[in-house]
Amino acid sequence: PNLVNQIAAGEVIERPASVVKELLENSVDAGARRIELLIEKGGTERIRVSDDGCGISAEQLPLAVTSHATSKLPDDDSLFHVGTLGFRGEALASIASVSQMLIRSRTEAGSEGAELRIRGGVLEPVAPCGCPQGTSIEIRNLFFNTPVRRKFLRTPQTERGHIVEAFTRLALANPQIHMVLSNGDKTLYDLPQTERWVDRIEAFFGGEVSDSLIPLDSDDGQIRISGYACDPAVSRGNNRMQYLFLNGRFIRDRSLQHALGEAYRGLLMVGRFPVGFLRVSIPPEMVDVNVHPCKLEVRFTDGGRIYSRVLQTLRHRFLSTDM
Ligand code: ADP
Ligand code: MG
Repeated sequence: PNLVNQIAAGEVIERPASVVKELLENSVDAGARRIELLIEKGGTERIRVSDDGCGISAEQLPLAVTSHATSKLPDDDSLFHVGTLGFRGEALASIASVSQMLIRSRTEAGSEGAELRIRGGVLEPVAPCGCPQGTSIEIRNLFFNTPVRRKFLRTPQTERGHIVEAFTRLALANPQIHMVLSNGDKTLYDLPQTERWVDRIEAFFGGEVSDSLIPLDSDDGQIRISGYACDPAVSRGNNRMQYLFLNGRFIRDRSLQHALGEAYRGLLMVGRFPVGFLRVSIPPEMVDVNVHPCKLEVRFTDGGRIYSRVLQTLRHRFLSTDM
């Protein structure tokens, strides 16, 4: 079974940032209001995610790291799990099979916490421990038992860059959560929860970008588009500032990225880029999330319609005079 988990890990756990993504998503799913991510050496040595979410009971702990054990109900699939569906109940088992993992957790009802150590997929007995409500999962020495993959890790700076990107995506998708990222003893981001999405955008991309953003809002009864795009006349961003969130999850989508570029066509000065932070909400039946193993990419039942909604919403906004 450990070999199976290691193979599964190969599909989805490419590098430390993949671990970070899975752990952060679990904390969000657990209803956390505060999530702290700590990394060392670009996550190759240590990754720890601590949250104040619902916690895992001592009896459930071994199940949480067993393949296909998920506590998440199937009826919230399409909306809630647009980011994780299809890989459900495998992330922790896969990560545990290729690392040294320590989980400490306490539920609200639990009078004390419980801890579980797993080394290369081998579980130690669950032991009691003192800990606050919530869950803390620490990963050490990722890929220690799969030397080929360990060897393919890049420099700590490169791996850290990918982690920061995963953190950015999740923090942008969840402004209601206080999120902290530390690299060793240095705090890189400490983002209090906020009602104003633009605050969080500013925390990552600076005031010059956030000041040039104009709000978007359109709704055709099924497709709702909100968020921000840079005023084409003053766009200051770079070509990486294009973030798309579908039903609350970050996705990558070539077609919608193209729509963003099209909306800016003819409006940008040379050397300036389209910048957009778009939130698209659609009914779950209009999307198939079972395409990409990490669920970064989706397939729309009517991609053309969403494409035109995005293009029209932006274009209309850019051409209106009250910008
Ligand atoms: P999935 O998220 O698809 O259910 P995972 O392997 O990521 O699968 O997690 C397995 C299970 O472990 C989850 O269903 C959940 O019950 C539990 N779990 C994992 N992380 C947390 C967390 N931070 N807080 C509470 N429960 C968690
Ligand atoms: Mg998960």
